[in-house]
Amino acid sequence: MSFIETEIDLDQTEVAEIRIDPITSHRSLFSKKSFRGNEVILKFLAKNVLATPTYLTVQISETVHIELFPECLECANHSCDPNCFFDTTRMEFITLRSIPAGEELTFFYPSAEWDMDQPFECYCGTDRCIGLIKGARYLSDDQLKQYRFTDFMSQKLQSAKS
Ligand SMILES: [Zn+2]
Repeated sequence: MSFIETEIDLDQTEVAEIRIDPITSHRSLFSKKSFRGNEVILKFLAKNVLATPTYLTVQISETVHIELFPECLECANHSCDPNCFFDTTRMEFITLRSIPAGEELTFFYPSAEWDMDQPFECYCGTDRCIGLIKGARYLSDDQLKQYRFTDFMSQKLQSAKS
């Protein structure tokens, strides 16, 4: 008896697509349709749950770091002027403002990351660029005011202050 396994690309979405830079192989996520502000782009799930962060995980709680499903969300790059946000309470990837089709979808890494596994120098090139990205715990009060953070990150920031 033969058994043919069909390969299903679970990562294909109607709303966003991965683009790969032919030279650097750097992956990015782009919108395939236009969105209003505060609209859900994709609901996500945890493909894997880890106790410590990696460069691909999103922090859900003190000891829960998830790998995202659909996996295309791993391709959402950081920007200091983000147009998207990971709502880890509702498990929704949402827009922060209206986004036309064909625009890169970005989020502010520290919005969901307390202390990043791999800090990096940001070259997003936006007016809001804050330079070295290390995680929410390293942001100044002035920087904190400018961004939306996950509920968990907001709690962490509150308790760090008190
Ligand atoms: Zn930047």
